[in-house]
Amino acid sequence: MTATVIRNGRVLDVARRAAEPKDILIDGDTIREVGAAGMPAPAGARAIDATGRMLIPGLVNAHTHGHGSLGKGRGDRANLEMLLNSAPWINGGRNHDDRRLATLLNAAEMVRRGCTGVYDLTWEMPAPSRDGIAAVRSAYEAIGMRAVIAPMLADRTMFEAVPGLMAALPDAARRDVERLGLPPFAGALAVCRDIARGWRGGDRLAFAIAPTIPHHCSDDLLRACGRLAAEHGLRLHTHLAESKVQALTGLRTYGRTLLAHLDALGLVGPGFTGAHAVWLDDDDIRRMVDRGASVAHNPGSNLRLGNGIAPVRRMLDAGLTVGIGSDGSNSSDNQNVVEAMRFASYVSRVRSHDVSQWIGADEAIRMATEGGAAAIGLRGRLGCIAPGYLADIAFLDLDDLAYVPLNDPVNQLVHADDGGSVASVMIGGRMVYDNRRFTTIDLDKLRHEVATAMDRLNAATEPQRAMVKRLEPLVAHFCTCFAATPYHVRRMGTPPYEDN
Ligand SMILES: [Zn+2]
Repeated sequence: MTATVIRNGRVLDVARRAAEPKDILIDGDTIREVGAAGMPAPAGARAIDATGRMLIPGLVNAHTHGHGSLGKGRGDRANLEMLLNSAPWINGGRNHDDRRLATLLNAAEMVRRGCTGVYDLTWEMPAPSRDGIAAVRSAYEAIGMRAVIAPMLADRTMFEAVPGLMAALPDAARRDVERLGLPPFAGALAVCRDIARGWRGGDRLAFAIAPTIPHHCSDDLLRACGRLAAEHGLRLHTHLAESKVQALTGLRTYGRTLLAHLDALGLVGPGFTGAHAVWLDDDDIRRMVDRGASVAHNPGSNLRLGNGIAPVRRMLDAGLTVGIGSDGSNSSDNQNVVEAMRFASYVSRVRSHDVSQWIGADEAIRMATEGGAAAIGLRGRLGCIAPGYLADIAFLDLDDLAYVPLNDPVNQLVHADDGGSVASVMIGGRMVYDNRRFTTIDLDKLRHEVATAMDRLNAATEPQRAMVKRLEPLVAHFCTCFAATPYHVRRMGTPPYEDN
């Protein structure tokens, strides 16, 4: 394997809030040594000059949806249930090449903002297929990004899952949504088992499984996902108590919280990641800590969809592993983990005057690096610039005005930078983005292909768009009323403003 030495970069030290010039020696895809500037390197080592750059561990996006990139900007004043209602339109009509394109576009957005690893929950209607997952995988292989690819599974639509929603619809609308019914899960599960058996990806590309939303899955499906994960060592990821409607649905459907139900079915363990986790109570948090599970915190998406504020301080204080996600562009419109770190820091300050309860910039960085690494199964291998870690490094331009003057690199990365400083990105020792140009993909070609695909998809999904728009006010009205039901934790801003 070729050796690489990165010279004169200022390596971010989060604990010391410093960024001193250091050299980094890399062997193949792994960091071997971090030493003083000018340290010896093997003869013939490739040298990269990082003068004027701050080097940070590649950020990890702990929760997104590659397929969502084609839906950015579709929604504004739409809550989660309205977004789920819109799925047949904004995700509809796709072929496998569309899946590859969407995933590649999403990955390109992430990489250019310093992200090197991702947990991608990918959706294919009506169920995942071998070719669909191969198309998604080929996008990550093309750009050279580290990814966990998890097909989303469900055997109930939202209309079937939310108690009373179907019954509240007028007859014509009910007939519309009845046609959206999902097939039995056995076929999808067999496909996933087949893919899991043949999967080879090392620590670059992993396959996982995502029962998408607990109550959108029958208990039989949830148990089957748990068995499949155990058989093949797969990670499990689900949207967990993301909205108040979901939390209430959990209590109504199971007589216990969503997390307590998943735990009773045996799904919650070290390989389990719950996305959002806004409406977890203290008992849920304790259970997750006890099981060694992790949370993917998506503050931007939670704000955009009005889902409330996740109790991240309580999670961290309890010892829960938390990563940061952008969520899909269907619900948060960009793929910028630098911005997500800032949201994580700022939104924590809404609920308390006590500054000790706020999330610090240092904590936001640790969540977006080490926390995300743990969520994608690479704890201790990714998320630090240190010997033995994978060589995933973002090179930030210290001439960017976010760092002029350089007072505190930790605070400035989270509170001043918008990700625009990212000049180059190395993943596994390979420079995939170099001086603001991709070395692995042709961005102009990608833009053109996306535009062509969207012309076709917009025309093909016009009937679905019309149906979604007919249903939207009905869903909005029902869910707004449902969400007024009391729940035993509050997650909307500061009381007493909740629920008014
Ligand atoms: Zn999501």
